[in-house]
Amino acid sequence: MAPARGNLQSVCVFCGSSDAADPAYLRAAAEFGRALAEAGLRLVYGGGGVGLMGAAARAADQAGGRVLGIIPDFLVGKERALESIEHVVVTSMHQRKQMLFEEADGFVVLPGGVGTLEEVIELLSWRRLDLHTKPVVFYSPDNFWGPLFELFQHTVDARLTPPEFMGAWAVVDRIEAILPALHAGPSAGSSPMLASLT
Ligand code: AMP
Repeated sequence: MAPARGNLQSVCVFCGSSDAADPAYLRAAAEFGRALAEAGLRLVYGGGGVGLMGAAARAADQAGGRVLGIIPDFLVGKERALESIEHVVVTSMHQRKQMLFEEADGFVVLPGGVGTLEEVIELLSWRRLDLHTKPVVFYSPDNFWGPLFELFQHTVDARLTPPEFMGAWAVVDRIEAILPALHAGPSAGSSPMLASLT
């Protein structure tokens, strides 16, 4: 395992919990978990053993990487928490998200469903409020996240979101491109957004 570079030590991944997802997405999640381990970066995630979450965490662990799972007590059974890996059981979804945020220096969004959307929208809404400048990278194979970016642009076009917001993340379509994009630092620099449109 290589020592981690720069200020990036821990990377939080937001991704789907469904085992019925396209097998290519599940394989990509595992590839990402291995890449993190090989780069000496800690994977921080929602703690489950299912879907892309489980695939990424197991692969990172098996490749000798460090993994921290954070899971609310009521999901330990439902999301089949990986209890052999370092994990913390919290009491609410809010606590989980807060802790995921605090434990990570950067965020990666793989394909996911409504839970993934909820997590990343909150993260980006905090960026829009200048509460952080941690880098956010979307892995968007076959333009998976394109409709979300179109929706964001729609709100910009309606002058409800500042145009700078559209630079608050990076998008890649290859797993190998994720870590270089994260290392490039926060997208849109640290340009303040709170003053815009208010
Ligand atoms: P999904 O993309 O729907 O498969 O969900 C991915 C992960 O997001 C799962 O671990 C869910 O438990 C989690 N999740 C769903 N809703 C929320 C929420 N409101 N806050 C935090 N995490 C959530």
